[in-house]
Amino acid sequence: MRREGTWNGGPGTPRRGPADQATVRRSNLALVLRHLREHGARSRSAVAAETGLNKTTVTSLASELLARGLIKETGPQHAGAVGRPGLALALDGSGVGALGLEVNVDYIAAFATDLAGRVLLDWRISFNAMNSTPERSLEELAGAIRQAVDELALLGVRVAGITVAVPGLIDTTTGTVDVAPNLGWYGVPVATVLERADVSRDVPVTVDNDANLAALAEFTSGVAAGTPDLVYLTGEVGIGGGIIAGGRLLGGADGFAGEVGHVPVDPSGDRCGCGRIGCWETKVGLAVLVRMVTPDNAYGTHDGMVRDPEERLSEIEARQAAGDPRVTEAVAEVGRWLGRGAATLVNLFNPRVIVLGGYFARLADQLIPVAQAELERWGVAGSIARCSFVASDFGFCAASRGAAGLVVERVLSDPTTVDIRASAMPVPQMSTEGSADPVSHRAKPPR
Ligand SMILES: [Zn+2]
Repeated sequence: MRREGTWNGGPGTPRRGPADQATVRRSNLALVLRHLREHGARSRSAVAAETGLNKTTVTSLASELLARGLIKETGPQHAGAVGRPGLALALDGSGVGALGLEVNVDYIAAFATDLAGRVLLDWRISFNAMNSTPERSLEELAGAIRQAVDELALLGVRVAGITVAVPGLIDTTTGTVDVAPNLGWYGVPVATVLERADVSRDVPVTVDNDANLAALAEFTSGVAAGTPDLVYLTGEVGIGGGIIAGGRLLGGADGFAGEVGHVPVDPSGDRCGCGRIGCWETKVGLAVLVRMVTPDNAYGTHDGMVRDPEERLSEIEARQAAGDPRVTEAVAEVGRWLGRGAATLVNLFNPRVIVLGGYFARLADQLIPVAQAELERWGVAGSIARCSFVASDFGFCAASRGAAGLVVERVLSDPTTVDIRASAMPVPQMSTEGSADPVSHRAKPPR
């Protein structure tokens, strides 16, 4: 059974303390919006009674949330036993979208939801970022953002914010990627470049670490949602870790925590994308599996050819089905190193669950038994630590999903980030009933 985690003190959570009037109002708007999101439709009186705000304040806050298109009025509700029926307030947000993107070595992914978490858009395009300049990659990313914003506009959805997930060390205050070794990005001011290109039509762009965003997606709505101590591992060419400890994302002094892929495990091993020797990702990253199993198609060998990771996995599985003995041995080798490296994580953080993302999830049936045995061999607590590997069911969209989740969280924490609609006219509404499911509009750009 799935439980639910919360973003619990994540970025954007409003701080309480001495505050001016505008801050108090923002905080109260957030309180009412979250209350409606968590508890469902209710009258203004009920909101007042349950939040401790006075009725006049709730009425004023509700007017502003209505004007911003974040809530709507629904059918009559009895305010109480003696109250006359009035219109109830409910979370709307179907016209407000949160857009998340991920740039990785071989693809760009886009994911969007409305404020209620309904998926509006979910696609991925192949792109060879490894062999492109940062400028070229940002052009491609800008194009993907424009396309996503246009698709959402066709659904009648205004974009409230955009977060871009990048596999690297990020200065989240400026939206600059300090280092993304597998992309070859050093000091790339992603947010500034995208804002200058006006891809987002004045919508704020933030940048964050892919593994951290994916971990938050898992913690809020994934296979191990609500598990207060979990580690998420990205299974890409690079391996990143998002660590949830005691229900909070572990950031570290600079927000750089979780670079587990660059923990040195073999001093006589291969050179890593970061320039060092024998990092964990040189043992378990997708590039090493591809090189062991399909050396003719190793990363970097066909400069002009862009291959989606799912295509590479299909090829690996096809070779295994055809009886190629290299595949089973290579996957077992990855599984052993996965368990050995995970033992370090268990020794450090004592997680209850390690969620395997990306390509690890697709090969989980083969990887987990080997990795679990190795984990118990190398973890100092052995089987006492009761830590299990589980496969994520978010595929390669966990980071973009988490990126969209971060935008939703920002709106819930500060509803004033969503503009008041032009003359507060109703924006086109999507049906929430019947067969008009916006996911069915999913547009997958041609590869
Ligand atoms: Zn490294």
